[in-house]
Amino acid sequence: MTLLGGAAQCRLSDCVAATLGDKVLDIGEEWRCSGCNKAVQATLSTCIVAPPAVLFVHLSRFEQRVQVHQQVGAAAPPQVQRHSAVVTWDVNGFTLPLQGTPKAAQYSTTAVSNHHGGLGGGHYTAAVRAPGSAGSGWAAANDSSVQPLNTDASLQSAANYLLCMEKQQ
Ligand SMILES: [Zn+2]
Repeated sequence: MTLLGGAAQCRLSDCVAATLGDKVLDIGEEWRCSGCNKAVQATLSTCIVAPPAVLFVHLSRFEQRVQVHQQVGAAAPPQVQRHSAVVTWDVNGFTLPLQGTPKAAQYSTTAVSNHHGGLGGGHYTAAVRAPGSAGSGWAAANDSSVQPLNTDASLQSAANYLLCMEKQQ
């Protein structure tokens, strides 16, 4: 999912809206027509037609920016930027829009993978829904340590990287 640049906080539904939808393909990425074999400017439509039973959401935390130097042919090394926005969503009832409103599917989050650090090195932790455990029903896993989470509100942070969701019946 596309993260909204610059914002300290954004909603997952806004990321979904920024990822899905129509995009006019720019010059240099035209579509080659199968009829006349010419490169034509086309519209790329991205939508979800059939909701999956298990939905993995990858938050695009890293963005590569190529800065072209004024001298021809001399490109600076690509700059990788980490988006640190806290993405918020309804853990127990995230709504995934489907093609053709007002159809939608409801998902509950079952696990969250977190990435701490940069592109060159970092550390992964996870939060998992652990039915029957004390507190919120969630547990935090960090290497060999597994601790109950007091509240599912502590799931959402700038480290969130992958979200695992199950479709509600
Ligand atoms: Zn054509």
